[in-house]
Amino acid sequence: MTLSCERARDLATDLLDGEVPMDLRRQVEEHLATCPTCPELYRAMLAVHRELTRLRTSEASAASE
Ligand SMILES: [Zn+2]
Repeated sequence: MTLSCERARDLATDLLDGEVPMDLRRQVEEHLATCPTCPELYRAMLAVHRELTRLRTSEASAASE
């Protein structure tokens, strides 16, 4: 079974938050490996996620100083 792009992107969002069970995670990774469009979107999502995480982290360390 392969995921639809819509479903894969949905799951990818959850995946960034670490809320996806291993078997679903694997399905998303399989989709990303075979889909021509999703990897690019996923990379963009990942970049945004990293930036948000970085901001949260720097806020947290600023608050603890
Ligand atoms: Zn796709």
